[in-house]
Amino acid sequence: MKGRVGLSKAARTRLVSLWLFCLAMFLGCQNLDLTLATHAPGLPEQARSKEPSNQVAAQLPSLHEKRVAPFIFLSDLPLNPEPKWIQGCSQLRDQIARDLRLQNSQRPILVYLFGDRASYDQYMRLRYPELPSRRAFFVAQGRSKVLGEDLMVLTWWSDRLEQDLRHELTHALLHSTLMDVPLWLDEGLAEYFEMEDYPVEFGERLAQTREDFAKGPGPSLERLEEIREIHRMQRPEYRESWLWVRFMLQGQPELKSVLLEYLAELRSNPRPAPLAPKLAKKMPDYGARFSRYAAEVAAPRTPVPPPP
Ligand SMILES: [Zn+2]
Repeated sequence: MKGRVGLSKAARTRLVSLWLFCLAMFLGCQNLDLTLATHAPGLPEQARSKEPSNQVAAQLPSLHEKRVAPFIFLSDLPLNPEPKWIQGCSQLRDQIARDLRLQNSQRPILVYLFGDRASYDQYMRLRYPELPSRRAFFVAQGRSKVLGEDLMVLTWWSDRLEQDLRHELTHALLHSTLMDVPLWLDEGLAEYFEMEDYPVEFGERLAQTREDFAKGPGPSLERLEEIREIHRMQRPEYRESWLWVRFMLQGQPELKSVLLEYLAELRSNPRPAPLAPKLAKKMPDYGARFSRYAAEVAAPRTPVPPPP
């Protein structure tokens, strides 16, 4: 339903005109660099694959709006009746606040939902021609003293919409609260909150991670923490980051407190001292324990309840 809540069209236009930098360049989500899903409700296949005939027509979705704080959903397709994933977004917000002990931010997060892949790709090619083709992006706009930093997610109604939103909204929620997030931790947390309710994908990811460790130099949090450039974050690094986060949040309660303290520091300090030495101080054999965890952990059969 159009105009139910949310920003005025003029306000949205103003926001869009202020796009100064695209964090997606640096947070290119490797897990999304997959074959694009082919399901797009209501559109024939040829409509999804043809090149745009009129590039000027590309614009952000604005036809249907729904606000579930802090999210403002702007969609090409109807949001009434309310899709179940909207409730999932609210639960994700609460889960992140609870599990990571982060206060919910009041900063709005704009979620643009294109009706199909063709219009999404057309818009992204026009607006961000330098970006690779991926199903979803998290974007942080440049700062202004008046409007502050704008956080937005752009994606389309694919058959992986809910899972993609969990990943990208995790980025958005973290950046709405923290001054900065190290690359490995940003992706590790996004993967963590994306994967927990998807045991099949979890199992596949776990098998790939074990293969990485068997073929490569083995796990090293210190090495992940040294990564500053996105090109050094390849798929194995995404997977390893994910497992380190899960190890700390679910594998070792003592280390969870260290991670939570680190996240708390990021609220006021964008460049805290590395995490690995803090883990070593708390648990000198944490590396060996991680290796055992990686070998023994199993995919959850059902969605995991929040840890105590
Ligand atoms: Zn990501």
